[in-house]
Amino acid sequence: MEKKISGVTIECVQGDITRQPDVTAVVNAANAWLKPGGGVAGAIHRAAGPELDKECRPLAPIKPGQAVITGGHNLPNKYVIHCLGPRYGVDKPEDRLLSDCYRNALKLADEHEIDSIAFPAISTGVFGYPVQEAAEVALRTVKETIPSLKHVHKIRFVLHSDRDLKIHEKVLESL
Ligand code: ADP
Repeated sequence: MEKKISGVTIECVQGDITRQPDVTAVVNAANAWLKPGGGVAGAIHRAAGPELDKECRPLAPIKPGQAVITGGHNLPNKYVIHCLGPRYGVDKPEDRLLSDCYRNALKLADEHEIDSIAFPAISTGVFGYPVQEAAEVALRTVKETIPSLKHVHKIRFVLHSDRDLKIHEKVLESL
């Protein structure tokens, strides 16, 4: 499903973040050292190839809530924006730190004149953030950030499971 807010399209789809060829940037749910690891980071590094790891090295470590940008290498996207989400119950306040991820990623995208960006559900895997709560923070932050964006016109949420898709769709609907 999709919704337009102030001329910006917000979409929720089920799929794989490494297979979004029609967006300029994809977001990595990174770890502090910007290393391959598991989940989204593993999939992104596998698809991008070893040159991504090389480009990431001098940018690490990053802090929860922070975002950094690299090229997309062998991904079908020009850029990867790496965000470190909070570990639920550990990095606090988690809602503020998760919100920082989305805000900082969108600001960075806009500074690079990026028109379209796809996010995974940051922190909802290994980092343990409940999907419902994370979706509320993510979509609220996107809505609040949209008025300050000049270049970003499409924001897509790519959810791995049907359950996560349905949760995000409901939150988007009620936005
Ligand atoms: P975090 O460490 O921030 O929790 P994870 O990578 O462990 O990040 O998981 C974040 C979310 O991304 C989880 O909901 C997970 O199911 C989902 N996910 C895992 N692989 C992919 C993928 N290839 N594309 C999109 N979402 C994915």
